[in-house]
Amino acid sequence: MKMDFIITTDRSMMTNHHGYEFLGFMTTSPPMGIPESVWNWISMPRPKVDEYGRPVEAPYGLRKIEASLQDAGYDAYVIDPDYIDRYIDSSKAILIGHHDYFALGPPSSEWWIITGREPVNSKSFRRFMNSKAMVKARESGLKFIIGGPASWQWLWRPELIDLWKIDTIIDGEAEKVIIDIADRILNNEPLPLYMYVGVDDVPSIDEIPIIKHASVNGLVEIMRGCPRKCRFCSVMLRPLRYIPIEKIIKEIEVNLAYGVNGVILHSEDVFLYGADGVIPRPEPILKLHKEVMERVDSIAWSHVSLAAIKYSEEKYRLVSKVMDIIYDKQDYIGVEVGIETGSRKLAKKIMPAKAAPYNPDLWPNIVIDAFRIMSENNIIPASTLIVGLPGEDEEDIIETIELVERLREYPSLIVPMYFVPMGYFKDRSWYLKEKIEGPLRELGEICLKHDLYWAEKILSKYYIKTSLKNPSSYILKILLRLLLRMYRTIISVKTKGIRLNI
Ligand code: SF4
Repeated sequence: MKMDFIITTDRSMMTNHHGYEFLGFMTTSPPMGIPESVWNWISMPRPKVDEYGRPVEAPYGLRKIEASLQDAGYDAYVIDPDYIDRYIDSSKAILIGHHDYFALGPPSSEWWIITGREPVNSKSFRRFMNSKAMVKARESGLKFIIGGPASWQWLWRPELIDLWKIDTIIDGEAEKVIIDIADRILNNEPLPLYMYVGVDDVPSIDEIPIIKHASVNGLVEIMRGCPRKCRFCSVMLRPLRYIPIEKIIKEIEVNLAYGVNGVILHSEDVFLYGADGVIPRPEPILKLHKEVMERVDSIAWSHVSLAAIKYSEEKYRLVSKVMDIIYDKQDYIGVEVGIETGSRKLAKKIMPAKAAPYNPDLWPNIVIDAFRIMSENNIIPASTLIVGLPGEDEEDIIETIELVERLREYPSLIVPMYFVPMGYFKDRSWYLKEKIEGPLRELGEICLKHDLYWAEKILSKYYIKTSLKNPSSYILKILLRLLLRMYRTIISVKTKGIRLNI
């Protein structure tokens, strides 16, 4: 197979997590309670590949770059990392994408802080970059192009840019600019070391290509950007674009053709699809779900906002109506949501539009109302808190603790993420030195109690459906249950800087 550009990544990304997207979270942590090999088998199994080493399912971002380059006439394919050595002699460059190259993003950095041990995703990436094939590629003079949402992390690891001979780091949506980079490589022209993709260079709706091969677990995007513009979030820098339903359906059909019968609708806020600013509109959301559910066997959402859930249900009964469409095929849906804080003061300061169209003063009650609505509609949220933000005081953390306690009755997971100032990344030993004490420690304990209370119930009732066709699902279920029971029966968990009394 002719190959101009190899598009690839390490094993922690090039996997379908046995078809259970939530298992991907295990790659953000070091192994706990079981050997690393078993941990990795659960969280990052090898995907099926074709005779050329092309994975049947690959990360969506890599698929977009593959589609852009193929549409521009290049021979570029996503290749599993175990097969790239076949193409090194005939290729010009290796293009690499990742969500968290060095485990500096959430929740990897939290696990690193709490346990004092490196998460498996960054270990896996290091193994990949030091693999025989990559050493050979460097010796052969191939170019190395870095991209994906974690590109910024290389700025905190400049020594690795030199060590691994990285030629270009693209920071931002790369579908358009990758063509210019590809031209330069083939014409032996100089490459920029760092390229920030500004508003003028992001692709328009028409310039976003349709994937040509299946994405991991059927992920397809329905919009880019977010109108809420929270101060701590990089998504707010992207212009808002809604992907037309016809394009979404075409990508779902690509996935179906490869036997991927489920879909994960990717958006920063599914209930803002086709919205009027931050005001949800029923028509596009209902139409989207009707069209999608006619075609797929199962559905998940990547993210929704709590204010949109509350508004949609109270104004239009929209959450119930969407779930009525989904109930034809499944009895629940999982989604990530951002609580971020229980403090009214902080909500007003760092995310004033997160509560919109409601007043941010009402934030804790918006969270409670949205959790109640989700619980009544069999929506299982995995939610995040951001703690340790600049300006956060003890009172703010206490308000967050009170909110988490009020959420106890709703099936959900709540994960605190510690705000890590960028400067700290220069000194890796910070992870080993920093202590989590006082109210922050109490918040961690309360979230852990909440999660252990709900995790096994959620796992058994909803997530892992065992099937004779998939024997590994039995092993997975048993292993995950054993893990949860083990954690639950531990009276206290001791780690480097934190002791959690469960
Ligand atoms: S609502 Fe979520 S995606 Fe949107 S700006 Fe805030 S944190 Fe970012």
